[in-house]
Amino acid sequence: MEKREELYAGKAKSVFRTDDPDRFVLVFRDDTSAFDGERKEQLSRKGMVNNRFNAFIMEKLEAAGVPTHFEGLLSDTETLVKKLDMIPVECVVRNVSAGSLCRRLGVEEGQELSPPTYELFLKNDTLHDPMVNESLAVTFNWASETELVHMKELTYKVNSVLKTLFDDAGMLLVDYKLEFGRSGTDIVLGDEFSPDGCRIWDKETRKKMDKDRFRQGLGDVIETYEEVGRRLGINFD
Ligand code: ADP
Ligand code: UDP
Repeated sequence: MEKREELYAGKAKSVFRTDDPDRFVLVFRDDTSAFDGERKEQLSRKGMVNNRFNAFIMEKLEAAGVPTHFEGLLSDTETLVKKLDMIPVECVVRNVSAGSLCRRLGVEEGQELSPPTYELFLKNDTLHDPMVNESLAVTFNWASETELVHMKELTYKVNSVLKTLFDDAGMLLVDYKLEFGRSGTDIVLGDEFSPDGCRIWDKETRKKMDKDRFRQGLGDVIETYEEVGRRLGINFD
């Protein structure tokens, strides 16, 4: 496999073409952004930590029957993935109230949500990722009804696998965002699962162990991501 030209540089990762038309290389950079790219910083080791974290989670999900784009680690910061036709709708599940849910509905942070909620957001930085619904997604051709059903099923399946995984390691999976894409007629989990795209709290102390450390200026961002990984059994050395 040969890495070819860069196709897209996102806020935290870059996508490269390869000599295989069905595969891309994702490069996890040290860049960190928040508030739709308004705040940007370089955090040393972040690319490596998120790359390995994501590989670990994607392998767990694949083993549990969730189709993912993950093909294998290529280096500390590079992963080989299946090329997907990305669906521009982000799927968010919440087990505990936090973030935009609290701001939008005026509910207190930290309430257990039973059953967990499921929300869709349009992936569009200029519009600040507005909340959308299935009807809008179908009307504007972002995804078909069948695809949306499948995305929801898979997003909940991810919840059942990961809630237990984090719980067993003394952590609470508060919420997370997933992105899916098309590979032929299949719906496949794409992008990444790392502390950048989810909220994780310590079960006992409720210490924030995710990107809120960056958003809220709490410090020790990457050290805490590594602590989450180590508790799950990931080796970053
Ligand atoms: P953003 O685009 O939000 O700034 P990133 O910096 O993470 O995000 O960039 C990675 C980009 O790669 C995202 O737009 C994501 O949708 C896209 N992507 C992730 N996985 C795949 C894949 N398997 N095939 C094609 N594109 C992908
Ligand atoms: N999220 C993300 N990318 C986005 C929007 C949200 O990874 O563009 C994640 C975020 O980290 C959190 C979950 O999705 O784990 C829910 O985010 P929320 O709607 O609360 O928005 P936020 O408070 O992050 O603005």
